[in-house]
Amino acid sequence: MTNTVLEPLQSHHWIAANSYRVRITAFALVGIPIALHIVPRNPGVLFWALFLLQFFAYPHVMQWLSQRARDREKAEHNNLIVDSLASGAWAAALGFPLWISVALFLAALLNHTITLGRKGILICFLSLCSGALASTTVIAFHVSTDTNGLVTLTSIVGLAVYLSLMGIEFFSYIRRLHQVQDAVDEQKRTLEVANHALHEQIGKIHDLQEKLREQANRDSLTGLFNRRYLEGTLERELARCKRENAPLTMLLLDIDHFKLVNDTYGHPAGDEVLRVFARALQESARTEDIVCRYGGEEFLLVLPKMPLHIARGRANQLLELFRQTTVMFEDKRIPVTTSIGIAAVPDHALTVENLIRSADQALYRAKSTGRNRAVAFNEF
Ligand code: GH3
Ligand code: MG
Ligand code: MG
Repeated sequence: MTNTVLEPLQSHHWIAANSYRVRITAFALVGIPIALHIVPRNPGVLFWALFLLQFFAYPHVMQWLSQRARDREKAEHNNLIVDSLASGAWAAALGFPLWISVALFLAALLNHTITLGRKGILICFLSLCSGALASTTVIAFHVSTDTNGLVTLTSIVGLAVYLSLMGIEFFSYIRRLHQVQDAVDEQKRTLEVANHALHEQIGKIHDLQEKLREQANRDSLTGLFNRRYLEGTLERELARCKRENAPLTMLLLDIDHFKLVNDTYGHPAGDEVLRVFARALQESARTEDIVCRYGGEEFLLVLPKMPLHIARGRANQLLELFRQTTVMFEDKRIPVTTSIGIAAVPDHALTVENLIRSADQALYRAKSTGRNRAVAFNEF
Protein backbone atom coordinates (compact mmCIF):
# COMPACT_ATOMS: atom_id res chain seq x y z
CA MET A 1 0.00 0.00 0.00
CA THR A 2 1.40 3.35 -0.96
CA ASN A 3 0.99 6.58 0.93
CA THR A 4 -0.02 8.37 -2.25
CA VAL A 5 -3.34 6.57 -2.09
CA LEU A 6 -3.99 7.38 1.54
CA GLU A 7 -2.54 10.86 1.69
CA PRO A 8 -5.32 12.83 -0.06
CA LEU A 9 -7.87 11.15 2.20
CA GLN A 10 -5.98 11.67 5.41
CA SER A 11 -5.02 15.31 5.00
CA HIS A 12 -8.52 16.77 5.31
CA HIS A 13 -12.09 16.30 4.20
CA TRP A 14 -12.39 15.90 0.45
CA ILE A 15 -14.72 18.89 0.13
CA ALA A 16 -12.10 21.00 1.90
CA ALA A 17 -9.42 19.64 -0.39
CA ASN A 18 -11.45 20.61 -3.45
CA SER A 19 -13.16 23.73 -2.09
CA TYR A 20 -11.10 26.24 -4.09
CA ARG A 21 -12.00 24.74 -7.45
CA VAL A 22 -15.60 24.09 -6.41
CA ARG A 23 -16.14 27.61 -5.11
CA ILE A 24 -14.61 29.36 -8.15
CA THR A 25 -16.75 27.21 -10.47
CA ALA A 26 -19.94 27.58 -8.44
CA PHE A 27 -19.72 31.36 -8.20
CA ALA A 28 -18.80 31.72 -11.86
CA LEU A 29 -21.73 29.49 -12.89
CA VAL A 30 -24.28 31.41 -10.81
CA GLY A 31 -22.66 34.76 -11.64
CA ILE A 32 -23.55 34.41 -15.33
CA PRO A 33 -27.37 34.27 -14.97
CA ILE A 34 -27.25 36.93 -12.27
CA ALA A 35 -25.28 39.25 -14.57
CA LEU A 36 -27.66 38.50 -17.45
CA HIS A 37 -30.63 39.10 -15.15
CA ILE A 38 -29.36 42.45 -13.91
CA VAL A 39 -27.92 43.95 -17.13
CA PRO A 40 -31.30 45.18 -18.44
CA ARG A 41 -31.92 46.92 -15.09
CA ASN A 42 -28.83 49.14 -15.38
CA PRO A 43 -27.70 48.69 -11.80
CA GLY A 44 -24.78 51.15 -11.73
CA VAL A 45 -21.08 50.96 -10.92
CA LEU A 46 -21.50 50.14 -7.23
CA PHE A 47 -23.49 47.03 -8.07
CA TRP A 48 -20.92 45.82 -10.60
CA ALA A 49 -18.13 46.43 -8.12
CA LEU A 50 -20.02 44.38 -5.56
CA PHE A 51 -20.80 41.76 -8.21
CA LEU A 52 -17.14 41.37 -9.22
CA LEU A 53 -16.07 41.22 -5.59
CA GLN A 54 -18.63 38.56 -4.75
CA PHE A 55 -18.43 36.32 -7.79
CA PHE A 56 -14.79 36.60 -8.80
CA ALA A 57 -12.71 37.90 -5.87
CA TYR A 58 -14.58 36.23 -3.00
CA PRO A 59 -13.59 32.59 -3.82
CA HIS A 60 -9.89 33.57 -3.79
CA VAL A 61 -10.27 35.43 -0.49
CA MET A 62 -11.95 32.39 1.08
CA GLN A 63 -9.17 30.16 -0.20
CA TRP A 64 -6.54 32.54 1.20
CA LEU A 65 -8.30 32.52 4.59
CA SER A 66 -8.86 28.76 4.78
CA GLN A 67 -5.24 28.06 3.91
CA ARG A 68 -4.26 29.93 7.04
CA ALA A 69 -6.75 28.08 9.22
CA ARG A 70 -5.39 25.48 11.65
CA ASP A 71 -8.30 23.14 10.98
CA ARG A 72 -9.03 23.31 7.26
CA GLU A 73 -12.09 21.11 7.45
CA LYS A 74 -13.71 23.28 10.09
CA ALA A 75 -12.73 26.41 8.16
CA GLU A 76 -14.43 25.03 5.08
CA HIS A 77 -17.63 24.31 7.03
CA ASN A 78 -17.63 27.95 8.09
CA ASN A 79 -16.90 29.05 4.51
CA LEU A 80 -19.93 27.10 3.31
CA ILE A 81 -22.08 28.99 5.80
CA VAL A 82 -20.66 32.29 4.51
CA ASP A 83 -21.38 31.09 0.93
CA SER A 84 -25.00 30.39 1.87
CA LEU A 85 -25.36 33.70 3.70
CA ALA A 86 -24.16 35.42 0.50
CA SER A 87 -26.48 33.28 -1.68
CA GLY A 88 -29.46 34.13 0.54
CA ALA A 89 -28.52 37.81 0.47
CA TRP A 90 -28.20 37.88 -3.34
CA ALA A 91 -31.46 35.98 -3.88
CA ALA A 92 -33.32 38.42 -1.61
CA ALA A 93 -31.58 41.49 -3.07
CA LEU A 94 -32.65 40.43 -6.58
CA GLY A 95 -36.25 39.74 -5.42
CA PHE A 96 -35.96 35.92 -5.52
CA PRO A 97 -35.74 35.42 -9.31
CA LEU A 98 -37.07 31.84 -9.61
CA TRP A 99 -34.38 29.90 -11.49
CA ILE A 100 -31.48 31.83 -10.01
CA SER A 101 -32.91 31.21 -6.52
CA VAL A 102 -33.46 27.52 -7.31
CA ALA A 103 -29.85 27.19 -8.50
CA LEU A 104 -28.50 29.03 -5.44
CA PHE A 105 -30.67 26.98 -3.08
CA LEU A 106 -29.88 23.58 -4.62
CA ALA A 107 -26.14 24.27 -4.83
CA ALA A 108 -26.10 25.39 -1.18
CA LEU A 109 -28.18 22.37 -0.11
CA LEU A 110 -25.84 20.00 -1.94
CA ASN A 111 -22.73 21.58 -0.40
CA HIS A 112 -24.09 21.45 3.13
CA THR A 113 -25.54 17.93 3.00
CA ILE A 114 -22.40 16.55 1.37
CA THR A 115 -20.26 17.84 4.22
CA LEU A 116 -22.62 17.55 7.22
CA GLY A 117 -25.33 15.05 6.23
CA ARG A 118 -28.81 15.67 7.64
CA LYS A 119 -27.52 18.43 9.88
CA GLY A 120 -26.51 20.25 6.68
CA ILE A 121 -30.18 20.70 5.67
CA LEU A 122 -30.91 22.75 8.78
CA ILE A 123 -27.70 24.77 8.52
CA CYS A 124 -28.40 25.43 4.85
CA PHE A 125 -31.91 26.76 5.57
CA LEU A 126 -30.74 28.84 8.52
CA SER A 127 -27.83 30.43 6.68
CA LEU A 128 -29.81 31.09 3.48
CA CYS A 129 -32.64 32.66 5.49
CA SER A 130 -30.19 34.68 7.60
CA GLY A 131 -28.53 35.99 4.44
CA ALA A 132 -31.89 36.87 2.93
CA LEU A 133 -33.00 38.56 6.16
CA ALA A 134 -29.77 40.57 6.40
CA SER A 135 -30.18 41.67 2.81
CA THR A 136 -33.81 42.78 3.30
CA THR A 137 -32.79 44.97 6.23
CA VAL A 138 -30.57 46.96 3.83
CA ILE A 139 -32.64 46.68 0.67
CA ALA A 140 -36.43 46.74 1.03
CA PHE A 141 -38.07 43.31 0.77
CA HIS A 142 -39.49 42.73 -2.68
CA VAL A 143 -40.42 39.71 -4.77
CA SER A 144 -39.89 39.55 -8.51
CA THR A 145 -39.59 35.90 -9.52
CA ASP A 146 -39.67 36.29 -13.31
CA THR A 147 -36.56 35.55 -15.32
CA ASN A 148 -36.17 35.78 -19.05
CA GLY A 149 -35.43 32.73 -21.21
CA LEU A 150 -31.66 33.25 -21.35
CA VAL A 151 -31.39 33.68 -17.58
CA THR A 152 -33.54 30.59 -17.04
CA LEU A 153 -31.41 28.62 -19.48
CA THR A 154 -28.06 29.72 -18.01
CA SER A 155 -29.37 29.04 -14.48
CA ILE A 156 -30.46 25.52 -15.39
CA VAL A 157 -27.32 24.76 -17.42
CA GLY A 158 -25.14 26.24 -14.65
CA LEU A 159 -26.90 24.11 -12.05
CA ALA A 160 -26.59 21.00 -14.24
CA VAL A 161 -22.87 21.64 -14.82
CA TYR A 162 -22.33 22.21 -11.11
CA LEU A 163 -24.22 19.03 -10.13
CA SER A 164 -22.26 17.03 -12.73
CA LEU A 165 -18.92 18.37 -11.51
CA MET A 166 -19.83 17.53 -7.93
CA GLY A 167 -20.97 14.07 -9.02
CA ILE A 168 -17.69 13.47 -10.83
CA GLU A 169 -15.74 14.75 -7.85
CA PHE A 170 -17.68 12.49 -5.53
CA PHE A 171 -17.24 9.54 -7.90
CA SER A 172 -13.45 9.92 -7.96
CA TYR A 173 -13.44 10.28 -4.17
CA ILE A 174 -15.40 7.03 -3.79
CA ARG A 175 -13.04 5.34 -6.24
CA ARG A 176 -10.07 6.49 -4.19
CA LEU A 177 -11.80 5.16 -1.07
CA HIS A 178 -12.18 1.79 -2.77
CA GLN A 179 -8.50 1.81 -3.71
CA VAL A 180 -7.62 2.49 -0.10
CA GLN A 181 -10.02 -0.24 1.02
CA ASP A 182 -8.40 -2.68 -1.44
CA ALA A 183 -4.93 -1.71 -0.23
CA VAL A 184 -6.01 -2.15 3.39
CA ASP A 185 -7.58 -5.53 2.56
CA GLU A 186 -4.40 -6.63 0.84
CA GLN A 187 -2.29 -5.55 3.77
CA LYS A 188 -4.70 -7.35 6.09
CA ARG A 189 -4.25 -10.53 4.07
CA THR A 190 -0.46 -10.12 4.14
CA LEU A 191 -0.63 -9.59 7.90
CA GLU A 192 -2.83 -12.66 8.28
CA VAL A 193 -0.31 -14.76 6.36
CA ALA A 194 2.53 -13.34 8.46
CA ASN A 195 0.50 -13.95 11.61
CA HIS A 196 -0.14 -17.54 10.58
CA ALA A 197 3.57 -18.07 9.88
CA LEU A 198 4.38 -16.53 13.24
CA HIS A 199 1.95 -18.86 15.02
CA GLU A 200 3.55 -21.80 13.25
CA GLN A 201 6.98 -20.60 14.35
CA ILE A 202 5.77 -20.17 17.92
CA GLY A 203 4.31 -23.68 17.79
CA LYS A 204 7.64 -25.05 16.58
CA ILE A 205 9.48 -23.15 19.32
CA HIS A 206 7.07 -24.59 21.91
CA ASP A 207 7.64 -28.12 20.57
CA LEU A 208 11.38 -27.52 20.64
CA GLN A 209 11.21 -26.18 24.18
CA GLU A 210 9.17 -29.23 25.19
CA LYS A 211 11.77 -31.49 23.55
CA LEU A 212 14.59 -29.65 25.31
CA ARG A 213 12.80 -29.90 28.64
CA GLU A 214 12.25 -33.61 28.03
CA GLN A 215 15.90 -34.06 27.03
CA ALA A 216 17.03 -32.19 30.11
CA ASN A 217 15.08 -34.69 32.21
CA ARG A 218 16.29 -37.77 30.37
CA ASP A 219 19.47 -39.78 30.48
CA SER A 220 20.90 -39.90 26.96
CA LEU A 221 22.23 -43.48 27.18
CA THR A 222 19.18 -45.28 28.53
CA GLY A 223 16.35 -42.83 27.90
CA LEU A 224 15.26 -43.14 31.53
CA PHE A 225 14.57 -40.13 33.72
CA ASN A 226 17.74 -38.69 35.22
CA ARG A 227 18.57 -37.62 38.75
CA ARG A 228 17.66 -34.03 38.01
CA TYR A 229 14.11 -35.08 37.13
CA LEU A 230 13.86 -37.23 40.21
CA GLU A 231 14.87 -34.38 42.49
CA GLY A 232 12.01 -32.29 41.14
CA THR A 233 9.44 -35.07 41.22
CA LEU A 234 10.11 -37.14 44.32
CA GLU A 235 9.11 -34.41 46.78
CA ARG A 236 5.85 -33.95 44.89
CA GLU A 237 5.11 -37.69 44.79
CA LEU A 238 5.86 -38.10 48.46
CA ALA A 239 3.62 -35.16 49.39
CA ARG A 240 0.81 -36.66 47.32
CA CYS A 241 1.12 -40.08 48.96
CA LYS A 242 1.19 -38.48 52.41
CA ARG A 243 -1.91 -36.46 51.54
CA GLU A 244 -3.70 -39.61 50.46
CA ASN A 245 -2.35 -41.57 53.43
CA ALA A 246 -0.69 -43.96 51.00
CA PRO A 247 2.76 -45.57 51.30
CA LEU A 248 5.65 -44.91 48.91
CA THR A 249 8.45 -47.40 48.41
CA MET A 250 11.82 -46.96 46.76
CA LEU A 251 14.09 -49.60 45.21
CA LEU A 252 17.72 -48.60 44.71
CA LEU A 253 19.39 -50.99 42.26
CA ASP A 254 23.12 -51.31 41.62
CA ILE A 255 24.53 -53.73 39.04
CA ASP A 256 26.90 -56.19 40.60
CA HIS A 257 30.56 -56.08 39.60
CA PHE A 258 29.87 -53.75 36.76
CA LYS A 259 33.42 -52.56 36.71
CA LEU A 260 34.34 -56.13 35.86
CA VAL A 261 31.88 -56.10 32.94
CA ASN A 262 33.63 -53.03 31.56
CA ASP A 263 37.06 -54.50 32.15
CA THR A 264 36.18 -57.89 30.64
CA TYR A 265 34.00 -56.96 27.68
CA GLY A 266 34.85 -53.33 27.13
CA HIS A 267 33.05 -50.05 27.80
CA PRO A 268 30.62 -50.34 24.82
CA ALA A 269 29.53 -53.74 26.18
CA GLY A 270 28.98 -52.07 29.57
CA ASP A 271 26.83 -49.46 27.83
CA GLU A 272 24.75 -52.17 26.21
CA VAL A 273 24.26 -53.82 29.60
CA LEU A 274 23.03 -50.49 30.97
CA ARG A 275 20.62 -50.11 28.06
CA VAL A 276 19.21 -53.65 28.41
CA PHE A 277 18.97 -53.25 32.18
CA ALA A 278 17.14 -49.94 31.79
CA ARG A 279 14.71 -51.32 29.21
CA ALA A 280 13.87 -54.31 31.42
CA LEU A 281 13.27 -52.00 34.38
CA GLN A 282 11.07 -49.69 32.34
CA GLU A 283 9.04 -52.54 30.88
CA SER A 284 8.35 -54.01 34.30
CA ALA A 285 7.19 -50.68 35.73
CA ARG A 286 3.60 -49.50 36.24
CA THR A 287 2.56 -46.21 34.65
CA GLU A 288 2.70 -44.43 37.99
CA ASP A 289 6.20 -45.73 38.81
CA ILE A 290 9.21 -43.50 38.26
CA VAL A 291 12.21 -45.26 36.74
CA CYS A 292 15.39 -43.27 36.90
CA ARG A 293 19.09 -43.71 36.20
CA TYR A 294 20.43 -42.45 39.49
CA GLY A 295 24.16 -42.72 38.78
CA GLY A 296 26.63 -44.73 36.65
CA GLU A 297 25.15 -48.20 37.10
CA GLU A 298 22.68 -47.30 39.83
CA PHE A 299 18.97 -47.14 39.13
CA LEU A 300 16.14 -45.95 41.27
CA LEU A 301 12.58 -47.17 41.15
CA VAL A 302 9.96 -45.07 42.93
CA LEU A 303 6.77 -46.97 43.62
CA PRO A 304 4.00 -44.63 44.77
CA LYS A 305 1.16 -46.17 46.80
CA MET A 306 2.96 -49.52 47.01
CA PRO A 307 3.35 -50.98 50.52
CA LEU A 308 6.64 -52.48 51.62
CA HIS A 309 5.66 -56.15 51.40
CA ILE A 310 4.47 -55.82 47.82
CA ALA A 311 7.57 -53.83 46.90
CA ARG A 312 9.69 -56.63 48.32
CA GLY A 313 7.89 -59.03 45.97
CA ARG A 314 8.61 -56.67 43.05
CA ALA A 315 12.30 -56.56 44.03
CA ASN A 316 12.48 -60.35 44.05
CA GLN A 317 10.81 -60.50 40.64
CA LEU A 318 13.38 -58.04 39.31
CA LEU A 319 16.25 -60.06 40.75
CA GLU A 320 14.86 -63.12 39.00
CA LEU A 321 14.38 -61.20 35.78
CA PHE A 322 18.00 -60.03 35.72
CA ARG A 323 19.28 -63.48 36.65
CA GLN A 324 17.53 -64.82 33.61
CA THR A 325 18.60 -61.96 31.37
CA THR A 326 21.80 -62.47 29.47
CA VAL A 327 23.00 -59.46 27.59
CA MET A 328 24.34 -60.28 24.13
CA PHE A 329 27.16 -58.15 22.86
CA GLU A 330 29.17 -59.08 19.75
CA ASP A 331 28.28 -62.76 20.17
CA LYS A 332 29.31 -62.68 23.79
CA ARG A 333 26.85 -63.48 26.53
CA ILE A 334 27.21 -61.21 29.52
CA PRO A 335 25.48 -62.35 32.70
CA VAL A 336 24.10 -59.59 34.92
CA THR A 337 22.94 -59.63 38.49
CA THR A 338 21.93 -56.76 40.66
CA SER A 339 21.60 -55.83 44.31
CA ILE A 340 18.58 -53.93 45.57
CA GLY A 341 18.08 -51.74 48.62
CA ILE A 342 14.48 -51.19 49.70
CA ALA A 343 13.13 -48.36 51.84
CA ALA A 344 9.59 -47.16 52.38
CA VAL A 345 7.55 -44.25 53.67
CA PRO A 346 6.27 -44.30 56.35
CA ASP A 347 8.01 -47.55 57.50
CA HIS A 348 11.64 -46.34 57.33
CA ALA A 349 11.58 -42.63 56.66
CA LEU A 350 9.30 -39.62 56.36
CA THR A 351 11.39 -37.36 54.15
CA VAL A 352 12.91 -37.76 50.71
CA GLU A 353 16.40 -37.33 52.08
CA ASN A 354 15.97 -40.03 54.74
CA LEU A 355 14.23 -42.33 52.31
CA ILE A 356 17.17 -42.24 49.87
CA ARG A 357 19.65 -42.61 52.69
CA SER A 358 17.74 -45.65 54.02
CA ALA A 359 17.59 -47.25 50.56
CA ASP A 360 21.32 -46.60 50.13
CA GLN A 361 22.11 -48.25 53.48
CA ALA A 362 19.91 -51.22 52.57
CA LEU A 363 21.74 -51.51 49.23
CA TYR A 364 25.09 -51.42 50.99
CA ARG A 365 23.82 -54.23 53.19
CA ALA A 366 22.74 -56.24 50.11
CA LYS A 367 26.22 -55.79 48.63
CA SER A 368 28.06 -56.67 51.82
CA THR A 369 25.99 -59.79 52.39
CA GLY A 370 26.82 -61.35 49.04
CA ARG A 371 25.11 -59.28 46.26
CA ASN A 372 22.38 -60.53 43.88
CA ARG A 373 19.77 -59.96 46.55
CA ALA A 374 17.23 -57.47 47.86
CA VAL A 375 17.43 -56.09 51.38
CA ALA A 376 14.93 -53.79 53.06
CA PHE A 377 16.09 -51.15 55.52
CA ASN A 378 14.44 -52.81 58.52
CA GLU A 379 16.05 -56.19 57.90
CA PHE A 380 19.37 -55.48 59.56
P1 GH3 B 1 29.63 -53.43 43.02
O1 GH3 B 1 29.09 -54.78 42.80
O2 GH3 B 1 30.17 -53.21 44.39
O3 GH3 B 1 28.60 -52.38 42.67
O4 GH3 B 1 30.81 -53.24 42.04
P2 GH3 B 1 30.86 -52.35 40.77
O5 GH3 B 1 32.03 -52.72 40.01
O6 GH3 B 1 29.59 -52.37 40.04
O7 GH3 B 1 30.95 -50.92 41.41
P3 GH3 B 1 31.68 -49.63 41.08
O8 GH3 B 1 30.80 -48.47 41.56
O9 GH3 B 1 33.06 -49.66 41.63
O10 GH3 B 1 31.76 -49.56 39.54
C1 GH3 B 1 30.84 -48.83 38.75
C2 GH3 B 1 31.42 -48.75 37.37
O11 GH3 B 1 30.47 -48.30 36.46
C3 GH3 B 1 32.56 -47.76 37.28
C4 GH3 B 1 32.34 -47.00 36.00
O12 GH3 B 1 33.42 -47.07 35.13
C5 GH3 B 1 31.17 -47.71 35.40
N1 GH3 B 1 30.33 -46.82 34.71
C6 GH3 B 1 29.69 -45.73 35.18
N2 GH3 B 1 28.95 -45.16 34.21
C7 GH3 B 1 29.10 -45.91 33.08
C8 GH3 B 1 28.61 -45.83 31.74
O13 GH3 B 1 27.85 -44.95 31.39
N3 GH3 B 1 29.00 -46.78 30.86
C9 GH3 B 1 29.83 -47.79 31.22
N4 GH3 B 1 30.15 -48.69 30.33
N5 GH3 B 1 30.34 -47.87 32.47
C10 GH3 B 1 29.98 -46.96 33.39
MG1 MG C 1 27.77 -48.42 42.01
MG1 MG D 1 27.79 -51.80 40.96
